[in-house]
Amino acid sequence: MKYTSLHTHTLFCDGTDDVETMCRAAWEKGLAAVGFSAHGPIRRKTGLHTNWHLPEERLEEYAAEVRAARKRWEGKIAVYLGLEMDYIKGRIGPADQDIQELGLDFIIASVHYIDPPGKGGLFSVDGSMRELERGVREGFAGDGEAMMECYWNAVGDMIAAGGFDILGHADLIKKNNPDRRWFNPEGETYRRKSRETVRAAGKAALVVEVNTGGLNRRKTPDTYPSVPLLRLFRENGVPAVITADAHRAQDLDGFYQTARQTLLAAGYTTHALFDGRKDKRPQWTFADL
Ligand SMILES: [Zn+2]
Ligand SMILES: [Zn+2]
Repeated sequence: MKYTSLHTHTLFCDGTDDVETMCRAAWEKGLAAVGFSAHGPIRRKTGLHTNWHLPEERLEEYAAEVRAARKRWEGKIAVYLGLEMDYIKGRIGPADQDIQELGLDFIIASVHYIDPPGKGGLFSVDGSMRELERGVREGFAGDGEAMMECYWNAVGDMIAAGGFDILGHADLIKKNNPDRRWFNPEGETYRRKSRETVRAAGKAALVVEVNTGGLNRRKTPDTYPSVPLLRLFRENGVPAVITADAHRAQDLDGFYQTARQTLLAAGYTTHALFDGRKDKRPQWTFADL
C-alpha cells in the first residue's frame, strides 16, 4: 500500500527532529512522499507569542532547507514544501498574499484559535484544558455550545476565504471535550454546524485530511475527523488524504492502519496521494484502500 506523509512538524516549529531525519525516516518507512508543514508564522499579524509557530525570521531558512532536502533525496522519495496555516478571521489565513506568494507545494489550513465575540481575546482549542476553560468562561460566559458554534463558523469562514489545499484536523474542537464537558457532539447544533462546513468543503473542491495526530500523541481515541463526520465528507464528494501530524520522525506513519480502517468505515474506497503542484494546481492521484 502506497502512503504519503504531508502533515509534519520539525525543529523549525514544535517538532523534535530536523528535516533530514524526517526525510530519512520517511524513506526507510517506504513512504512515497514526505511533506513539511511547519506552523506558519503568526506573531506579526496577530501579536501572539507562541513557542509552536515558525518565527517570521526563519521562514526563508525553512524553505531553503526543505528545498535542499528535495534535491538530496531526488530519485528516492518526493519531498514537498508546505505550511500549516492558522486561520483567524480578519487577522491571518492561508489566502494572505504573502503566503500565496511563497510558491509552496501545498498548504494545510487549520483553525487552532477561537476569537470570541465578547471580551477575553483569542484562545487555542488545541492547547491545555485550562486555556480552553478560561476562553469559554471569559469569551462565552461559560457557554460551551456557543464556543463550539464559533469554532465551526471559523472553519466555514476559512473555507470561504480559500487559498489552501488540505482541510486540517476538521473536528479539532473535540480534543478537549471529555464527557461532553462543553458541548454534545451528537447534538443538533454540532450536527448542523459540521454539516454546513462539510458542504462548503465539497463545493470548494478541497481534500480533507484523516489526521492521526491525536492518536500519535494519545490525545484522542480516534482520528480527526471521526467516522460520522468523515462519512459526511464522503457523501459530499470530498477526497481524503491520510496524514500523521507527526512531531517526531517515528510517527510519520503512526496509526496509518487505523486511518485506513476509519476511511473504510466511512465508506471511502480510495485515498488521495499528493503528487506535487503543476501550473499552480495540486495534483492528486487516488489509490485503493
Ligand atoms: Zn494543527
Ligand atoms: Zn500540525
